[in-house]
Amino acid sequence: MLILDAHLDLAMNAVEWNRDLSQPLEHLRAREAHRRDKPDRGHGTVSFEAMRRAGIGLCVATQIARVEHDAYSPVAGWASQAQAWAMTRAQRAWYDAMEEAGEIRILRNLQDLDHHVALWSAPAASSPDRRPIGCILSLEGADSLVTLDHLERSHADGLRAIGPAHYGPGVYAQGTSTTGGFNPRGRELLAAMRRLGMILDVTHLSDECLVEALDLFDGPIWASHHLCRALVPHQRQLPDEHLRLLAQRDAVIGLALDAWMVVPGWVRGQSTPESTGASLRHVADHADHIAQVTGSARHVGIGTDLDGAFGYEQTPSEVQSIADIVQLGDILLARGWSRPDVEGVFSGNFLRVLRGAWA
Ligand SMILES: [Zn+2]
Repeated sequence: MLILDAHLDLAMNAVEWNRDLSQPLEHLRAREAHRRDKPDRGHGTVSFEAMRRAGIGLCVATQIARVEHDAYSPVAGWASQAQAWAMTRAQRAWYDAMEEAGEIRILRNLQDLDHHVALWSAPAASSPDRRPIGCILSLEGADSLVTLDHLERSHADGLRAIGPAHYGPGVYAQGTSTTGGFNPRGRELLAAMRRLGMILDVTHLSDECLVEALDLFDGPIWASHHLCRALVPHQRQLPDEHLRLLAQRDAVIGLALDAWMVVPGWVRGQSTPESTGASLRHVADHADHIAQVTGSARHVGIGTDLDGAFGYEQTPSEVQSIADIVQLGDILLARGWSRPDVEGVFSGNFLRVLRGAWA
């Protein structure tokens, strides 16, 4: 079964965590076993090999660099938009290098997508599988876009989706754990994205921005890596009313595998998958909840966010590597989800949004 993961910070791992994702996971872990600069050192779960092993032939791959609006902010960022822009260009240069090396293929249009899905729908021609992983480029947090001209350039260069904000206040929009709507620059950004035919990622928006975005932006929408507020309360999660609003727009919500979002009461740095019992069964609870609230399985997808500044110390206990996410399919089937619905979760639903956006 072809899998599409709608949220992976691949380039951040390469450029900021100094991980060579073309190496096997064991190599990546061993190389940083002695490092203590980040809490997830030695706990990586993502490599190109692990993705291919699970059939993850497609992903939404991010560029990410935020601006620090408050020097005392708990979330680190760059001091200026120019610096953030430079970081996203470095990340983009790495994607280009991986494409040249045959590890990935940057998908820009419907023809690319159809060709790539056909490539991955046939059995691998070699063992181990060496097929390139199709990447749809997305910008997580728009702070790095110094002007709308930078947006135009990025789009011409292959950027196809944007989440306007990340954690905290942003240049264009209010992000996770904030309140308030879009500022005038943010509204201009949405209009420019629409003109360019880009996809809007509502993940990380404040509640007010999310509702406003659905009003201001009539193009294709997804929530790339998100779970349910009804099951684990936090502003980062989607309340039921937002699930319904997103379903009205035929949007898809990518199930995230960051354990603090999966089970209630997680304390960062203290809780463990064992102490909380965090499991893919809990992720399936979120999938069930989305399907129940929206009345359909067509709004559920996968957006793991694995290695998004956390490793297997903060994932559901079954997930030691990204290849383990296939077990979620068995759990959903055992709960009575139909095979076509599970295939929709694993790729079909996000492919529907992409095809609609690129038709
Ligand atoms: Zn995120």
